[in-house]
Amino acid sequence: MSHRSRQARIGGRLADKDLDALIVTDPVNVRYLSGFVGSNGVLVVTAGHRVLLTDSRYTVAARAQVVDTDVVIAGRDLLDSMAEVVPTGRVGIEADHMTVARRDRMASRLRAIDLVPVTGIVEGLRVVKDPGELDLIREATRVADAALARLVAEGFAGRTEAETAWALHGWMRDLGAEGASFDIIVAGGAHGALPHAVPRGERIPPDTLVVVDMGARIGGYASDCTRTLSTGILPPALEEAYAVCREAHGAALAACRAGVHSREVDSAARNIITAAGLGDRFGHGLGHGVGLDIHERPWLRQEGGEVLQTGMVVTIEPGIYLEGVGGVRIEDLAVVGDDGCEVLTCVPTDLITTTI
Ligand code: ZN
Ligand code: ZN
Repeated sequence: MSHRSRQARIGGRLADKDLDALIVTDPVNVRYLSGFVGSNGVLVVTAGHRVLLTDSRYTVAARAQVVDTDVVIAGRDLLDSMAEVVPTGRVGIEADHMTVARRDRMASRLRAIDLVPVTGIVEGLRVVKDPGELDLIREATRVADAALARLVAEGFAGRTEAETAWALHGWMRDLGAEGASFDIIVAGGAHGALPHAVPRGERIPPDTLVVVDMGARIGGYASDCTRTLSTGILPPALEEAYAVCREAHGAALAACRAGVHSREVDSAARNIITAAGLGDRFGHGLGHGVGLDIHERPWLRQEGGEVLQTGMVVTIEPGIYLEGVGGVRIEDLAVVGDDGCEVLTCVPTDLITTTI
């Protein structure tokens, strides 16, 4: 799908909301709609037209990147030039991405315009991926898988958690990634019981689990994968936690298809963990959408969420966290389809024992 068809779809959304234009300020949404990649850009979208405001640092880049979009080079404060490009009438602003101060400054410069806070307009388009986006996510997954496979083959080789995280980062760069899609998590032993652990300068201990959560970024698109590796003979509690988590992961993958509410996919995993008496050790949601943002719609959890659609890309990542002992999380990236989901991650989920 081209930026042109995204423009057609956004035109329909503006009509639905009775808006004459939308001021897009979230950089990810600006990129999605126009192709512009930069730290200072505002896109003004009407039903038939797009104008990108940016500053002179991006003159050359903006003209090379944008598709079917007029470019206006403004001063550093883009708000000073807003009145020239924003049409009169009802104009949406992205409430999820604008500070109150910026809204007030914008309103003072656009006095004749009715600024209407809106949410989810561009995000609602981004939720279903087109073939070009899927190709980039597949490639990002392939690169992260290859780096993880190298870690499995080499083992931790006396590395600390932090050294392991940086090694994975470097391997993904060597394989063509622009970088990691988020700060890589490597957490061994009791540290693995923290779902968002920050890698430490400590050696990975023997006879425990190590949670490795990582992803690559290619063409702006992210991948996301977690594997939990063993470093020897596990205490029974961790062995059981791994088996339960893996079963829950498989059940959620089996439940994940178009037409199913995201809550039901979360339940498929959560019911298994709860039946094993570990429900209170699985505190986070089952998964999230992945695209230009590492965490985006749809949300796979008990609260909120939405009915899954073909072409959504989601993570399935149940976890069990035993405070003071260790943790396990198994995460795959999957494309939702009509009859099931296609798992992009290629690293097996069998418990792998590595050397340290
Ligand atoms: Zn992850
Ligand atoms: Zn994730």
